[in-house]
Amino acid sequence: MVESQRILITGGAGFLGSSLCRQLVSLGHDVICLDNYFTGRKSNIEDLLDQHNFEALRHDVTIPISLEVDQIYNLACPASPIHYQYDPVQTTRTSVIGAVNMLELARNTNARVLQASTSEVYGDPTVHPQTEDYWGNVNPIGIRACYDEGKRCAETLFFDYYREYGVEIRVARIFNTYGPGMQIDDGRVISNFIVQALKNQPITIYGDGSQTRSFCYRDDLVEGLMRMMDSNLTGPVNLGNPTPFTMLGLAEVVIEMTGSNSKIEYHELPADDPMQRQPDIQRAADGLGWKASTPLHKGLVKTIAYFQQRLDKNG
Ligand code: NAD
Ligand code: UDP
Repeated sequence: MVESQRILITGGAGFLGSSLCRQLVSLGHDVICLDNYFTGRKSNIEDLLDQHNFEALRHDVTIPISLEVDQIYNLACPASPIHYQYDPVQTTRTSVIGAVNMLELARNTNARVLQASTSEVYGDPTVHPQTEDYWGNVNPIGIRACYDEGKRCAETLFFDYYREYGVEIRVARIFNTYGPGMQIDDGRVISNFIVQALKNQPITIYGDGSQTRSFCYRDDLVEGLMRMMDSNLTGPVNLGNPTPFTMLGLAEVVIEMTGSNSKIEYHELPADDPMQRQPDIQRAADGLGWKASTPLHKGLVKTIAYFQQRLDKNG
């Protein structure tokens, strides 16, 4: 029997946050979902609203807040490049001021706080696979910097609150994650390719498609975050699936799995788009007994079925 905790999840109405809320509610925890609904949707948490141990709070993490909690998962931040580049100043503010506010809350309530950091702290990495002790290769003035540098500064704040005030922190570096619950217009590669394939529209490959990413299924990632929160590992810890795919390879798999007539269409590669990304997950394996166990094909079957359902509903 798990002891019930009061848990705050910022960004709880987003893709990962809503799945985490659902898991923690089902385990009997008292869950508060905080979100400003920038990229999150009320429909993502609709099914939880009548649960006695779930509350939704419209709030922006850049504004300080006072609550009685035992644990905080800080996920508030748009994650898709089109969304975080829409209002880059707000993206940096969300990461940096949001981190200060959640760390202050943790400090005042003696709560443990987990930061949803990102593989983007490694930028366009020159070391493969990326281990946690690699410091990264980030353009500090580029169009991705609002996200990358915002998340890097948030990590700095987490470690300084830990060293200076003894706040109990956990820092997880999340690599590309996909699954049911993503928005149709999310803009990230897996949702784009699946939606385009299901509509028999051109599959948009940015660049020549030789860049690689390693895709982690949502449920594996959420399990990793919960294990990290309950562990004694401060981090940073990489959480992701270590198997890399090229974007061209991914497009071909999606076309085949959906039986689509879509053709591939090449577009310009966005500035500073990392060429290769692959996590070393030894630290998570040793410290959390965790690995991403869902192969891409299996995760795609569920994700394609989800998007098919969404498109059928939208007519
Ligand atoms: P998402 O965009 O679906 O969710 C982000 C949530 O944060 C949304 O509900 C949004 O409305 C909310 N939000 C944004 N700004 C806010 C603010 N100022 N105040 C309150 N709420 C705010 O993205 P996601 O994929 O669920 O990502 C969740 C977290 O995980 C993010 O912090 C992201 O950086 C991190 N992450 C995700 C991935 C991934 O592949 N999904 C990879 C690395 C890191
Ligand atoms: N990408 C693509 N077509 C799309 C969307 C993305 O080729 O329609 C590419 C993008 O340029 C990047 C990779 O897919 O190289 C992953 O992009 P995503 O936005 O999913 O995540 P991130 O770049 O943050 O890893």
